[in-house]
Amino acid sequence: MDKTSPLLPEIPSPAYICPFDQACSYLDAAAKELKLDQGVLEILSNPRKVVTVSIPVKRDSGEIQILAGHRVQHCNVLGPHKGGIRFHPAVTLREVSALAMLMTWKCALLGIPYGGAKGGIAINPKSYSINELERISRRYISELIKDIGPSVDIPAPDMGTSAREMAWMMDTYSVNIGHAVPGVVTGKPLSIGGSLGREMATGRGVMIIVREALKDKGKSLEGTRIAIQGFGNVGGAAAELLHQAGAKIIAVSTGSGGIFAENGLDIPQLKAYQKENNRKISGFSKTQPISNAELLTLPCDVLIPAALENQITQKNADRIQANIIAEAANGPVTLEANLSLEARGVTVLPDILSNAGGVVVSYLEWVQGLSYLFWDEEKVNGEMENLMVQAYRKVMQQSQERKISPRLAAYVLGVGRVAQALKDRGLYP
Ligand code: GLU
Repeated sequence: MDKTSPLLPEIPSPAYICPFDQACSYLDAAAKELKLDQGVLEILSNPRKVVTVSIPVKRDSGEIQILAGHRVQHCNVLGPHKGGIRFHPAVTLREVSALAMLMTWKCALLGIPYGGAKGGIAINPKSYSINELERISRRYISELIKDIGPSVDIPAPDMGTSAREMAWMMDTYSVNIGHAVPGVVTGKPLSIGGSLGREMATGRGVMIIVREALKDKGKSLEGTRIAIQGFGNVGGAAAELLHQAGAKIIAVSTGSGGIFAENGLDIPQLKAYQKENNRKISGFSKTQPISNAELLTLPCDVLIPAALENQITQKNADRIQANIIAEAANGPVTLEANLSLEARGVTVLPDILSNAGGVVVSYLEWVQGLSYLFWDEEKVNGEMENLMVQAYRKVMQQSQERKISPRLAAYVLGVGRVAQALKDRGLYP
């Protein structure tokens, strides 16, 4: 299929697995199930706004480099745009557009009043100094100043960015506006209005969804064997919380490869080791090295791809041994792989559900900021857990009632809510 939007550049080559195409295929399937009007589908198949800005950055060497900074706003029918900003070499406008669309369905599925957005710059942040990253973050946000705001579009961390970048962005926006505007970004440091629980939120959400899925199969986290691809902000937090809950994390990985331990890894010790060894996990005691590809096909109960998209494809889907896959990354399982996994009875818990914990706590951070009332961590985690469990239950109910996969059920719920709002608001003019 070659789905194009007039707002996006051409697909670079037929061999390219286009994430925007994939996102549109899921939307098409949900639209068919919902018997959506063709016009509504056309609206939802296109981003609302696509912005690319030039970011001239002075390197520490004095040389000037020009970077392209993207922000795609998919839909604002339910509320302000919401979504992370990614610093990663694989960023393209098509990828950012797909991720913006996923954010729309994710927010709608979780019942939080936002529309989707995503931003990105194609850089490897490790190749830039802290000062350079600050200049990049500040210039990026100042170029987008008219397109963002607490009731317009609220960025957050994503791959390669964290609370540090959010603080620079909040400061840049605030200085330009003339007063502090904490609500312009979420995932901020606590000192400037961040929320307790935000840093671990995506990982905590993954843990909750896996726990609920196991419960439905009459099992618990205790002793469950889990392999996690990725050990960063999402994979690392999920590993920690799952380990705390009694699961056996048998393998984790980073971009440069993974480690495996038949009897389970001691996650707190591994975290301490990683901190001492410049973020390396290889060489951790009593483990065997393993490649990222090998990790995916390990014998285990639950597989959590928490790194990049398109990791489980037609090429390796039939070798996956887990019964449950929880997509902690965005789009780690391709459309075709998802179909063959489902046919084999593997439960694939879709990204827009599994990794929604981050944006849910972003929402709670935004609400706390707007009400000038800050909650303790227990309250934040409790509110998040309620929203996650409710969404999980609705997805599973919809999946059973319609006899469709949990992924399609999640899309049906998310897309259905947006389509209904679009219908009720009507088309202007
Ligand atoms: N980047 C995260 C996501 O993809 C969080 C977005 C947010 O908090 O707005 O869901």
